[in-house]
Amino acid sequence: MKTSTKAIHYSYQKPDAYGALSMPIYHTCAYEFPDADIMADAFCGRVELPDYTRVTNPTVIYFEKKVKALTGATASFAFCSGMAAITGTLMSLAAAGKTIISSNHLFGNTWLLISKTLGRFGVKSKFIDLTDLEAVKAAIDSDSCCIYAEIISNPHQEVVDLKGLSEIAHSAGIPLVADTTMIPFTKFSAKSLGVDIEVVSTTKYLSGGATTIGGLVLAYGDSEKFAAEMKEILLNLGGYMSPHSAYMQTLGLENLEARYNLESSNTLEIARRLTKLPSVKKVNYLGLEDNPFHSLAKAQFGGTYGAMLTIDLESKQACYRFLNRLQLVKRATNLFDNRSLAIHPWSTIFGNFTDEQKRELDIFDTTIRLSIGLEDVEDIYDDLRQALED
Ligand SMILES: *Cc1c(COP(=O)(O)O)cnc(C)c1O
Repeated sequence: MKTSTKAIHYSYQKPDAYGALSMPIYHTCAYEFPDADIMADAFCGRVELPDYTRVTNPTVIYFEKKVKALTGATASFAFCSGMAAITGTLMSLAAAGKTIISSNHLFGNTWLLISKTLGRFGVKSKFIDLTDLEAVKAAIDSDSCCIYAEIISNPHQEVVDLKGLSEIAHSAGIPLVADTTMIPFTKFSAKSLGVDIEVVSTTKYLSGGATTIGGLVLAYGDSEKFAAEMKEILLNLGGYMSPHSAYMQTLGLENLEARYNLESSNTLEIARRLTKLPSVKKVNYLGLEDNPFHSLAKAQFGGTYGAMLTIDLESKQACYRFLNRLQLVKRATNLFDNRSLAIHPWSTIFGNFTDEQKRELDIFDTTIRLSIGLEDVEDIYDDLRQALED
């Protein structure tokens, strides 16, 4: 079966009592067992039966298995948010005295998690230029516990060479962890690019119209030890996805392909048109042929470039004026909603960062981030153009 067929027709492990076509929502915390032996087997993992919804639930397991079938992951874990998935992954790989090798071009909360929150527990970090493979090699030492990269950084849209990074990670005996939120995992194979652990904010493309917050951790290759550690994280820290969220995310997964294809083609069209407007100083979109990361993105992600772009205007005032004039496009954070969204990252997502931190992270007050939705492309463009016009 091809991806879009599998996303819909992947079947349950067991027939449903009523033949329900959608996986039912098992809104329960606990499960009854026929006898003490089976109960003990379930709790100790000797049989695959849900025991308690902090770590196992049929609706969530169905979502996890569907994702496994679509990606070829050897293990998958659903979390209540992208940040919970990232936290769980790094808590299982890092320890006091260990170093996470990463970049200043990271999702803001991930950067703070690594530098500040985990830092308080003695985890060290090196933020380097992950597009410079020599610098990555030089940064690795015996304390390094993983390389952590975003496949396309948000909002800069810097693309890392995943094969290059994985070779360096593997020769040092450490895993390459990649946040693949920016391109759906049905569109390219992280595994074949050498990624060992994939983390995803399913809040974005997967949830299907921004219905629920969620996250995934996918492991490739020989993942038994890592899977046992993730189970420990879920048991001891919590953070498992809720059954209701898993239901919504499963629906989103079923129509992901159709939504993504339209959103990404709308985005390319919008990016091309915006380059022609004089008030737009720069359009940053990987699908534009003159983008410095275009060919690397093309080679890695199969000719698809996502549904996010940024534009640079004359000044911060011009950005605010543009936002205030929008009528169709919503002033909101989030990415890959059904509706188009616009935000000024400098004053919002990074609003409480110090000026020095913003400089370190290359966040400028002249940048607007756009997430392009499923509306008719003419309507989206008309709204952007009228908001940009003098
Ligand atoms: C949104 C996002 C996250 C965090 O995900 P949540 O589901 O909001 O917790 C992490 N990484 C990237 C690249 C994101 O865009």
